[in-house]
Amino acid sequence: MKKKIAILGSTGSIGKSLIEIIKKDKEKYEIVLLSANKNLSELIKQAKYFKVKNLIITNKNQYDLLKKKKFNIKIYNNFNNLNNIFKYKLDYIMSAISGLDGLNPTFESIKHTKKIAIANKESIICAWNILESELKKHNTKFVPVDSEHFSIWSALKKQDCSQEIDKIFITASGGPFYKLPLSKFPKIKIKDAIRHPNWNMGKKISVDSSTMMNKVFEIIEAKNIFNLSFDKLEILIHPVSYLHAIIKFKNGLSNMIIHDTDMKIPIFNSIFENKEYFINKKINLQKLNQLKLEKPNIKKFPLIKILKKIPKKISLYETVIVSTNDTLVDLFLKNKIKFNSIPKIFNKVINYKKLKKYRYFRPKNINQIIKLNNFIQLKINSLYK
Ligand code: NDP
Ligand code: MG
Repeated sequence: MKKKIAILGSTGSIGKSLIEIIKKDKEKYEIVLLSANKNLSELIKQAKYFKVKNLIITNKNQYDLLKKKKFNIKIYNNFNNLNNIFKYKLDYIMSAISGLDGLNPTFESIKHTKKIAIANKESIICAWNILESELKKHNTKFVPVDSEHFSIWSALKKQDCSQEIDKIFITASGGPFYKLPLSKFPKIKIKDAIRHPNWNMGKKISVDSSTMMNKVFEIIEAKNIFNLSFDKLEILIHPVSYLHAIIKFKNGLSNMIIHDTDMKIPIFNSIFENKEYFINKKINLQKLNQLKLEKPNIKKFPLIKILKKIPKKISLYETVIVSTNDTLVDLFLKNKIKFNSIPKIFNKVINYKKLKKYRYFRPKNINQIIKLNNFIQLKINSLYK
Protein backbone atom coordinates (compact mmCIF):
# COMPACT_ATOMS: atom_id res chain seq x y z
CA MET A 1 0.00 0.00 0.00
CA LYS A 2 1.17 3.54 -0.78
CA LYS A 3 2.41 5.68 2.13
CA LYS A 4 0.12 8.65 2.62
CA ILE A 5 1.96 11.86 3.32
CA ALA A 6 1.61 15.66 3.47
CA ILE A 7 4.23 18.40 3.11
CA LEU A 8 3.65 21.75 4.80
CA GLY A 9 5.92 24.33 3.17
CA SER A 10 6.53 22.17 0.09
CA THR A 11 7.87 25.11 -1.97
CA GLY A 12 10.67 25.95 0.49
CA SER A 13 14.19 24.65 0.78
CA ILE A 14 13.30 21.71 3.07
CA GLY A 15 10.02 21.01 1.25
CA LYS A 16 11.68 20.86 -2.18
CA SER A 17 14.40 18.54 -0.89
CA LEU A 18 11.74 16.14 0.36
CA ILE A 19 9.93 16.37 -2.97
CA GLU A 20 13.16 15.42 -4.77
CA ILE A 21 13.68 12.44 -2.48
CA ILE A 22 10.14 11.21 -3.05
CA LYS A 23 10.34 11.67 -6.82
CA LYS A 24 12.81 8.79 -6.93
CA ASP A 25 10.22 6.47 -5.34
CA LYS A 26 7.10 8.10 -6.72
CA GLU A 27 4.96 4.95 -6.87
CA LYS A 28 5.40 4.30 -3.13
CA TYR A 29 3.72 7.55 -2.04
CA GLU A 30 0.42 9.32 -2.21
CA ILE A 31 0.80 13.02 -1.37
CA VAL A 32 -2.53 13.99 0.17
CA LEU A 33 -1.70 17.66 0.78
CA LEU A 34 0.89 20.26 -0.20
CA SER A 35 1.05 23.80 1.14
CA ALA A 36 2.73 27.11 0.33
CA ASN A 37 2.35 30.76 1.12
CA LYS A 38 2.62 32.46 -2.29
CA ASN A 39 4.76 30.44 -4.68
CA LEU A 40 1.86 29.39 -6.88
CA SER A 41 3.81 28.19 -9.92
CA GLU A 42 6.00 25.80 -7.90
CA LEU A 43 2.98 24.51 -5.96
CA ILE A 44 1.03 23.80 -9.16
CA LYS A 45 4.04 22.08 -10.70
CA GLN A 46 4.38 19.80 -7.65
CA ALA A 47 0.62 19.15 -7.49
CA LYS A 48 0.45 18.12 -11.16
CA TYR A 49 3.50 15.88 -10.94
CA PHE A 50 2.19 13.97 -7.91
CA LYS A 51 -1.56 14.26 -8.73
CA VAL A 52 -2.21 15.89 -5.35
CA LYS A 53 -5.89 16.37 -4.48
CA ASN A 54 -5.59 19.07 -1.77
CA LEU A 55 -3.63 22.32 -1.66
CA ILE A 56 -3.36 25.05 0.95
CA ILE A 57 -2.12 28.44 -0.19
CA THR A 58 -2.23 31.06 2.56
CA ASN A 59 -1.58 34.25 0.59
CA LYS A 60 -5.03 35.69 -0.25
CA ASN A 61 -4.15 36.96 -3.75
CA GLN A 62 -2.49 33.73 -4.78
CA TYR A 63 -5.40 31.76 -3.31
CA ASP A 64 -7.87 33.80 -5.43
CA LEU A 65 -5.71 33.24 -8.52
CA LEU A 66 -5.55 29.51 -7.89
CA LYS A 67 -9.30 29.32 -7.32
CA LYS A 68 -9.89 30.78 -10.78
CA LYS A 69 -7.94 27.99 -12.44
CA LYS A 70 -10.21 25.08 -13.16
CA PHE A 71 -8.21 22.25 -11.67
CA ASN A 72 -9.77 19.17 -10.18
CA ILE A 73 -8.07 19.93 -6.85
CA LYS A 74 -9.56 21.11 -3.53
CA ILE A 75 -8.04 24.44 -2.58
CA TYR A 76 -7.92 25.95 0.89
CA ASN A 77 -6.66 29.24 2.27
CA ASN A 78 -5.73 28.13 5.82
CA PHE A 79 -5.17 25.16 8.08
CA ASN A 80 -8.58 25.22 9.80
CA ASN A 81 -10.13 22.49 7.70
CA LEU A 82 -7.69 19.65 8.14
CA ASN A 83 -10.58 17.42 9.31
CA ASN A 84 -12.06 17.69 5.81
CA ILE A 85 -8.75 16.90 4.13
CA PHE A 86 -7.54 14.04 6.29
CA LYS A 87 -10.24 11.41 6.71
CA TYR A 88 -7.77 9.01 8.35
CA LYS A 89 -4.33 9.25 9.97
CA LEU A 90 -1.58 9.79 7.41
CA ASP A 91 1.73 7.92 7.65
CA TYR A 92 3.93 11.01 7.66
CA ILE A 93 3.67 14.81 7.71
CA MET A 94 6.63 17.13 7.16
CA SER A 95 6.27 20.46 8.97
CA ALA A 96 8.55 22.83 7.03
CA ILE A 97 6.86 26.22 7.02
CA SER A 98 9.26 28.96 8.10
CA GLY A 99 8.81 31.11 11.21
CA LEU A 100 6.07 31.10 13.84
CA ASP A 101 3.50 30.91 11.04
CA GLY A 102 4.36 27.22 11.11
CA LEU A 103 3.13 26.74 14.68
CA ASN A 104 -0.62 26.39 14.11
CA PRO A 105 -0.17 24.07 11.09
CA THR A 106 2.27 21.92 13.09
CA PHE A 107 -0.07 21.73 16.08
CA GLU A 108 -3.12 20.97 13.91
CA SER A 109 -1.27 18.25 11.99
CA ILE A 110 -0.24 16.15 14.97
CA LYS A 111 -3.64 14.53 15.41
CA HIS A 112 -3.80 13.59 11.72
CA THR A 113 -0.60 11.61 11.32
CA LYS A 114 1.22 8.58 12.71
CA LYS A 115 4.52 10.45 12.41
CA ILE A 116 5.44 14.12 12.18
CA ALA A 117 8.87 15.34 11.10
CA ILE A 118 9.35 18.88 12.43
CA ALA A 119 11.82 21.16 10.66
CA ASN A 120 10.02 24.28 11.93
CA LYS A 121 12.32 24.98 14.86
CA GLU A 122 10.29 27.99 16.01
CA SER A 123 7.45 25.65 17.08
CA ILE A 124 9.83 23.46 19.08
CA ILE A 125 11.43 26.48 20.76
CA CYS A 126 8.23 28.32 21.69
CA ALA A 127 5.67 25.57 22.21
CA TRP A 128 7.44 22.31 22.97
CA ASN A 129 5.41 21.60 26.14
CA ILE A 130 2.17 21.99 24.16
CA LEU A 131 3.37 19.96 21.17
CA GLU A 132 4.75 17.21 23.39
CA SER A 133 1.46 16.68 25.18
CA GLU A 134 -0.39 16.74 21.85
CA LEU A 135 2.01 14.08 20.50
CA LYS A 136 1.33 11.90 23.55
CA LYS A 137 -2.42 12.47 23.38
CA HIS A 138 -2.61 11.31 19.76
CA ASN A 139 0.11 8.68 19.98
CA THR A 140 2.03 10.42 17.17
CA LYS A 141 5.74 9.76 16.62
CA PHE A 142 8.05 12.77 16.31
CA VAL A 143 11.32 13.18 14.41
CA PRO A 144 13.43 16.35 14.54
CA VAL A 145 14.72 17.44 11.12
CA ASP A 146 17.27 20.10 12.09
CA SER A 147 20.51 18.28 11.22
CA GLU A 148 22.18 18.54 14.65
CA HIS A 149 19.05 17.37 16.46
CA PHE A 150 18.39 14.61 13.99
CA SER A 151 21.99 13.43 14.54
CA ILE A 152 21.62 13.39 18.32
CA TRP A 153 18.18 11.81 18.12
CA SER A 154 19.35 9.00 15.87
CA ALA A 155 22.47 8.34 17.94
CA LEU A 156 20.46 8.08 21.17
CA LYS A 157 17.31 6.49 19.72
CA LYS A 158 15.28 8.34 22.32
CA GLN A 159 14.53 11.83 23.55
CA ASP A 160 14.86 11.98 27.31
CA CYS A 161 18.60 11.51 27.82
CA SER A 162 19.07 13.60 30.96
CA GLN A 163 20.23 10.55 32.97
CA GLU A 164 23.14 9.52 30.74
CA ILE A 165 24.45 12.75 29.25
CA ASP A 166 27.25 14.82 30.68
CA LYS A 167 27.33 17.31 27.80
CA ILE A 168 26.24 17.81 24.21
CA PHE A 169 28.28 20.08 21.96
CA ILE A 170 26.33 21.45 19.03
CA THR A 171 28.57 22.53 16.18
CA ALA A 172 28.25 25.72 14.14
CA SER A 173 30.02 26.59 10.91
CA GLY A 174 30.32 30.18 12.15
CA GLY A 175 28.42 31.35 9.05
CA PRO A 176 29.73 33.65 6.30
CA PHE A 177 31.28 36.17 8.74
CA TYR A 178 33.25 33.83 10.94
CA LYS A 179 36.55 35.21 9.58
CA LEU A 180 35.38 38.74 8.75
CA PRO A 181 36.91 41.37 11.08
CA LEU A 182 34.37 43.09 13.33
CA SER A 183 35.37 46.45 11.83
CA LYS A 184 33.85 45.33 8.49
CA PHE A 185 30.47 44.34 9.98
CA PRO A 186 28.85 47.77 9.35
CA LYS A 187 29.30 47.22 5.59
CA ILE A 188 27.55 43.81 5.45
CA LYS A 189 24.93 43.61 2.68
CA ILE A 190 21.89 41.33 2.32
CA LYS A 191 23.58 39.26 -0.38
CA ASP A 192 26.57 38.61 1.93
CA ALA A 193 24.37 37.50 4.84
CA ILE A 194 22.33 35.00 2.84
CA ARG A 195 25.39 33.35 1.28
CA HIS A 196 26.09 30.48 3.69
CA PRO A 197 29.50 28.80 3.17
CA ASN A 198 28.28 25.18 3.60
CA TRP A 199 24.49 24.92 3.50
CA ASN A 200 21.92 25.92 0.94
CA MET A 201 18.91 27.13 2.97
CA GLY A 202 16.01 29.59 2.99
CA LYS A 203 16.87 33.32 3.39
CA LYS A 204 15.63 33.72 6.97
CA ILE A 205 17.61 30.82 8.43
CA SER A 206 20.67 31.87 6.39
CA VAL A 207 20.61 35.32 8.05
CA ASP A 208 20.19 33.61 11.44
CA SER A 209 23.30 31.56 10.67
CA SER A 210 25.23 34.71 9.84
CA THR A 211 24.32 36.34 13.21
CA MET A 212 24.66 32.95 14.95
CA MET A 213 21.10 33.31 16.29
CA ASN A 214 20.47 29.99 14.58
CA LYS A 215 22.75 28.28 17.12
CA VAL A 216 20.98 30.03 20.01
CA PHE A 217 17.76 28.58 18.63
CA GLU A 218 19.34 25.15 18.27
CA ILE A 219 20.53 25.10 21.88
CA ILE A 220 16.97 25.90 23.07
CA GLU A 221 15.60 23.33 20.62
CA ALA A 222 17.96 20.65 22.00
CA LYS A 223 17.16 21.60 25.60
CA ASN A 224 13.47 21.07 24.89
CA ILE A 225 13.63 17.94 22.74
CA PHE A 226 16.16 16.04 24.87
CA ASN A 227 14.99 17.33 28.26
CA LEU A 228 18.38 18.77 29.21
CA SER A 229 19.42 21.81 31.21
CA PHE A 230 21.29 24.67 29.50
CA ASP A 231 24.54 23.85 31.32
CA LYS A 232 24.67 20.53 29.47
CA LEU A 233 24.67 22.22 26.06
CA GLU A 234 27.46 24.15 24.38
CA ILE A 235 28.16 25.73 21.00
CA LEU A 236 31.38 24.77 19.23
CA ILE A 237 32.60 26.38 16.01
CA HIS A 238 33.52 23.80 13.37
CA PRO A 239 33.90 25.60 10.02
CA VAL A 240 33.55 22.62 7.63
CA SER A 241 30.21 21.47 9.14
CA TYR A 242 31.07 17.78 8.86
CA LEU A 243 30.66 17.03 12.50
CA HIS A 244 27.14 17.83 13.72
CA ALA A 245 27.26 17.09 17.41
CA ILE A 246 29.45 15.51 20.07
CA ILE A 247 27.65 13.65 22.82
CA LYS A 248 29.71 13.16 25.98
CA PHE A 249 28.20 10.47 28.18
CA LYS A 250 28.55 10.24 31.95
CA ASN A 251 30.32 6.88 31.49
CA GLY A 252 33.36 8.59 29.94
CA LEU A 253 32.64 7.73 26.31
CA SER A 254 31.86 10.32 23.64
CA ASN A 255 30.02 9.96 20.39
CA MET A 256 30.72 12.18 17.38
CA ILE A 257 28.13 12.33 14.64
CA ILE A 258 29.39 12.99 11.14
CA HIS A 259 27.62 13.40 7.83
CA ASP A 260 27.87 15.39 4.62
CA THR A 261 26.53 18.94 4.63
CA ASP A 262 23.35 17.82 2.91
CA MET A 263 19.95 18.39 4.53
CA LYS A 264 18.66 15.48 2.45
CA ILE A 265 20.30 13.11 4.94
CA PRO A 266 18.11 14.04 7.94
CA ILE A 267 15.08 14.57 5.65
CA PHE A 268 15.53 11.18 3.97
CA ASN A 269 15.95 9.39 7.29
CA SER A 270 13.00 11.18 8.88
CA ILE A 271 10.79 9.35 6.40
CA PHE A 272 12.69 6.07 5.93
CA GLU A 273 14.04 5.61 9.48
CA ASN A 274 17.38 4.05 8.53
CA LYS A 275 15.62 1.27 6.63
CA GLU A 276 16.59 2.37 3.13
CA TYR A 277 19.90 3.13 1.44
CA PHE A 278 20.74 6.82 1.09
CA ILE A 279 22.91 7.02 -2.00
CA ASN A 280 25.41 9.83 -1.80
CA LYS A 281 29.09 10.44 -2.22
CA LYS A 282 31.50 8.48 -0.05
CA ILE A 283 32.09 10.16 3.27
CA ASN A 284 35.20 12.33 3.02
CA LEU A 285 37.20 11.39 6.09
CA GLN A 286 39.98 13.80 5.06
CA LYS A 287 37.67 16.56 6.22
CA LEU A 288 38.13 15.30 9.75
CA ASN A 289 41.73 16.53 9.56
CA GLN A 290 40.23 20.01 9.66
CA LEU A 291 38.09 19.60 12.76
CA LYS A 292 39.28 22.94 14.18
CA LEU A 293 36.89 23.17 17.12
CA GLU A 294 36.72 26.59 18.76
CA LYS A 295 34.52 28.55 21.12
CA PRO A 296 32.40 31.22 19.37
CA ASN A 297 33.49 34.88 19.45
CA ILE A 298 30.87 36.61 21.60
CA LYS A 299 32.08 40.10 20.57
CA LYS A 300 31.33 39.38 16.94
CA PHE A 301 28.17 37.44 17.64
CA PRO A 302 26.63 39.11 20.72
CA LEU A 303 23.22 37.49 20.21
CA ILE A 304 24.67 34.34 21.81
CA LYS A 305 24.58 36.15 25.17
CA ILE A 306 20.80 35.83 25.27
CA LEU A 307 21.23 32.16 26.25
CA LYS A 308 22.18 33.31 29.77
CA LYS A 309 18.84 35.10 30.17
CA ILE A 310 16.48 32.32 29.20
CA PRO A 311 14.69 30.57 32.07
CA LYS A 312 15.44 26.90 32.76
CA LYS A 313 11.90 25.82 32.01
CA ILE A 314 10.07 26.76 28.82
CA SER A 315 8.40 30.19 29.06
CA LEU A 316 6.75 32.77 26.81
CA TYR A 317 10.05 34.67 26.78
CA GLU A 318 11.26 32.30 24.05
CA THR A 319 8.39 33.63 21.91
CA VAL A 320 9.58 37.19 22.63
CA ILE A 321 13.06 36.19 21.44
CA VAL A 322 11.94 34.32 18.31
CA SER A 323 9.43 36.97 17.34
CA THR A 324 11.78 39.93 17.87
CA ASN A 325 14.50 38.22 15.86
CA ASP A 326 12.08 37.19 13.09
CA THR A 327 10.83 40.75 12.72
CA LEU A 328 14.33 42.24 12.69
CA VAL A 329 15.60 39.73 10.13
CA ASP A 330 12.61 40.53 7.96
CA LEU A 331 13.34 44.28 8.26
CA PHE A 332 16.98 43.61 7.34
CA LEU A 333 15.91 41.56 4.30
CA LYS A 334 13.65 44.46 3.26
CA ASN A 335 16.64 46.78 3.55
CA LYS A 336 15.02 48.79 6.34
CA ILE A 337 17.70 48.17 8.99
CA LYS A 338 21.42 47.39 8.83
CA PHE A 339 22.96 44.04 9.69
CA ASN A 340 24.73 45.60 12.67
CA SER A 341 21.45 46.94 14.02
CA ILE A 342 19.96 43.46 14.45
CA PRO A 343 21.72 42.68 17.79
CA LYS A 344 21.41 46.29 19.00
CA ILE A 345 17.64 46.56 18.48
CA PHE A 346 17.17 42.96 19.62
CA ASN A 347 18.78 43.72 22.99
CA LYS A 348 16.71 46.84 23.49
CA VAL A 349 13.43 45.05 22.75
CA ILE A 350 13.97 41.92 24.82
CA ASN A 351 15.00 44.00 27.84
CA TYR A 352 11.74 45.98 27.98
CA LYS A 353 10.18 45.35 31.40
CA LYS A 354 6.84 44.64 29.74
CA LEU A 355 8.39 41.83 27.73
CA LYS A 356 10.80 40.51 30.36
CA LYS A 357 7.84 39.51 32.50
CA TYR A 358 7.09 36.71 30.03
CA ARG A 359 9.99 34.81 31.60
CA TYR A 360 7.53 33.89 34.35
CA PHE A 361 4.74 32.54 32.14
CA ARG A 362 4.62 29.00 30.82
CA PRO A 363 2.88 28.73 27.41
CA LYS A 364 -0.62 27.35 27.92
CA ASN A 365 -1.92 27.20 24.38
CA ILE A 366 -0.76 28.11 20.92
CA ASN A 367 -3.12 31.09 20.62
CA GLN A 368 -1.26 32.80 23.44
CA ILE A 369 2.00 32.38 21.51
CA ILE A 370 0.49 33.55 18.22
CA LYS A 371 -1.03 36.64 19.89
CA LEU A 372 2.24 37.59 21.56
CA ASN A 373 4.08 37.10 18.26
CA ASN A 374 1.60 39.34 16.43
CA PHE A 375 1.84 42.01 19.12
CA ILE A 376 5.66 42.11 18.98
CA GLN A 377 5.76 42.12 15.17
CA LEU A 378 3.26 44.96 15.02
CA LYS A 379 5.09 47.06 17.62
CA ILE A 380 8.53 46.69 16.02
CA ASN A 381 7.26 47.14 12.46
CA SER A 382 5.41 50.33 13.44
CA LEU A 383 8.80 51.87 14.28
CA TYR A 384 10.29 51.12 10.83
CA LYS A 385 7.51 51.97 8.37
P1 NDP B 1 12.01 28.54 3.14
O1 NDP B 1 11.92 30.00 3.36
O2 NDP B 1 12.90 28.04 2.07
O3 NDP B 1 10.53 27.92 2.89
C1 NDP B 1 9.47 28.21 3.73
C2 NDP B 1 8.23 27.49 3.29
O4 NDP B 1 7.14 27.90 4.14
C3 NDP B 1 7.78 27.81 1.86
O5 NDP B 1 7.07 26.73 1.34
C4 NDP B 1 6.85 29.01 2.08
O6 NDP B 1 5.94 29.20 1.01
C5 NDP B 1 6.13 28.56 3.32
N1 NDP B 1 5.60 29.68 4.10
C6 NDP B 1 6.24 30.80 4.48
N2 NDP B 1 5.41 31.61 5.18
C7 NDP B 1 4.23 30.97 5.24
C8 NDP B 1 2.96 31.30 5.79
N3 NDP B 1 2.75 32.47 6.42
N4 NDP B 1 1.95 30.40 5.65
C9 NDP B 1 2.16 29.22 5.01
N5 NDP B 1 3.32 28.87 4.44
C10 NDP B 1 4.34 29.74 4.57
O7 NDP B 1 12.41 27.91 4.55
P2 NDP B 1 13.32 26.63 4.86
O8 NDP B 1 12.84 25.46 4.06
O9 NDP B 1 14.73 27.01 4.83
O10 NDP B 1 12.97 26.37 6.41
C11 NDP B 1 11.73 25.84 6.84
C12 NDP B 1 11.82 25.58 8.34
O11 NDP B 1 12.82 24.58 8.56
C13 NDP B 1 12.25 26.81 9.16
O12 NDP B 1 11.60 26.80 10.39
C14 NDP B 1 13.76 26.59 9.37
O13 NDP B 1 14.23 27.18 10.55
C15 NDP B 1 13.82 25.06 9.47
N6 NDP B 1 15.12 24.49 9.08
C16 NDP B 1 15.59 24.68 7.80
C17 NDP B 1 16.83 24.18 7.44
C18 NDP B 1 17.33 24.31 6.03
O14 NDP B 1 18.35 23.73 5.69
N7 NDP B 1 16.66 25.03 5.14
C19 NDP B 1 17.68 23.46 8.40
C20 NDP B 1 17.07 23.29 9.70
C21 NDP B 1 15.83 23.79 10.01
P3 NDP B 1 6.35 30.14 -0.27
O15 NDP B 1 7.44 29.39 -0.98
O16 NDP B 1 5.10 30.19 -1.05
O17 NDP B 1 6.80 31.45 0.28
MG1 MG C 1 20.79 23.09 12.14
